[in-house]
Amino acid sequence: MNYKWSRYLRLILAFLAVTTGAGLAFGYPVEGLLAGLFIYLTWTLAQSRKLYQWLANPGTGEAAPESVGLWGDIFDGLHKLHRGHLATQDRLLAQFNRLQESTNAMRDGVVMTDAEGVLEWWNGSAEYLLGLKRQTDLGQPIHNLVRAPAFQVYFRQRDYREPLELRSPARPHLHLQILISLFGEDDRLIVVKDVTRLFQLEQMRRDFVSNVSHEMRTPLTVISGYLETLVDNSEEFPPRWQRALRTMAQQSARMESLITDLLLLSKLETGEDHGIEAVVDVRAMCQQISNDARALSGDSGHEFQLDIGERHFLRGDGDQLRSAFSNLIFNAVKYTPAGGKIEIRWHTDREGAHLSVKDSGIGIDPVHIPRLTERFYRADPSRHKETGGTGLGLAIVKHVLLNHDARLEILSRIGDGSEFICHFPRERLAEPLPESAAETGDEV
Ligand code: ADP
Repeated sequence: MNYKWSRYLRLILAFLAVTTGAGLAFGYPVEGLLAGLFIYLTWTLAQSRKLYQWLANPGTGEAAPESVGLWGDIFDGLHKLHRGHLATQDRLLAQFNRLQESTNAMRDGVVMTDAEGVLEWWNGSAEYLLGLKRQTDLGQPIHNLVRAPAFQVYFRQRDYREPLELRSPARPHLHLQILISLFGEDDRLIVVKDVTRLFQLEQMRRDFVSNVSHEMRTPLTVISGYLETLVDNSEEFPPRWQRALRTMAQQSARMESLITDLLLLSKLETGEDHGIEAVVDVRAMCQQISNDARALSGDSGHEFQLDIGERHFLRGDGDQLRSAFSNLIFNAVKYTPAGGKIEIRWHTDREGAHLSVKDSGIGIDPVHIPRLTERFYRADPSRHKETGGTGLGLAIVKHVLLNHDARLEILSRIGDGSEFICHFPRERLAEPLPESAAETGDEV
């Protein structure tokens, strides 16, 4: 390059020497040099004009102008750069089209928005599932189109570990699962899945369990009633029959509580029973439940400790909360050997309110903890006959807490006792209603 450059320099100098020499021959060396400089300047301006015109129309795809010498090399260099640039552009465009084709072929909807939810791009499935329209919705906030309050809360919370399920705003018969990922500068990638089939199966399962439980309830009540009468008059039977009758009565009572729990669980799952928002006095409720727990403990000599903080009113469904708290407290009794200690503590802080039920019982191996709230999951299946539990208690607790925007935390180690903590958000705390201070569960 340097060699070429010095050659061009020599050529220019030689040209100026020729014009100066020609001027000298006629006795005007300075005029000869000026004439040479003028000719060179004119030629340079003509080349610059060609370049300017070519650069002014970049889209035409025209080849760079032709020239000789230094300008020829500059034009060739620019031509090569331009060709390389066009090739890269074509390659990127082909890749982009391919990517767009593949995302359009996806059955899941994909939507890209900025941090405020302004729609930037979406694929064909998102158009179908969410009812987005390219002509009108580009640049619109997604919240104007997907208006479900749950979606607005989910979008803003920035914690997207769990997906959100909702009905399609465009096609109400479709059930969608929404999963958001953060990318770029706080932008959002929203993946929308059609889970209608799964939702219907789940619905069928829930209906089946609820219908079977309903159907079984009546015959079982009849059987239990007769068995109770027979047990009451069991002296009339031989001793062998007396034992059999007692076992039958116990088992039918177990089945009754199983059916009660199944029905409650299916009500909680469908949200059928939800909506009675009341101001619940947690202190009074915990006192009542711990009295019942003392009765359940009987002669086992469990030590109970109740520590309820000052702000003890919660907005929620009194029956559901009673059912959740009593499951936790009765479990503490069932899984704590005689003489053990059970602490029930309610306190509030900046985050919200917390009910902790702590026992000094047998504890749970941490491997079981993530699955304890599944229906019929038992950490120690050999014990459930002894405790007489239904295996549905913690599933009920989980659903009640879900209905109250709360969550369950379980801390435990084998042999070290367990602690079950219900965390309620601050918004659930309530002030006592004048007449509700003495009662539990007045409607708000
Ligand atoms: P169950 O009717 O069997 O008690 P739950 O759903 O209430 O069913 O509890 C599920 C399982 O969790 C129990 O079978 C038991 O293994 C374990 N568990 C619950 N509470 C405690 C506790 N306080 N201490 C030890 N294990 C517990």
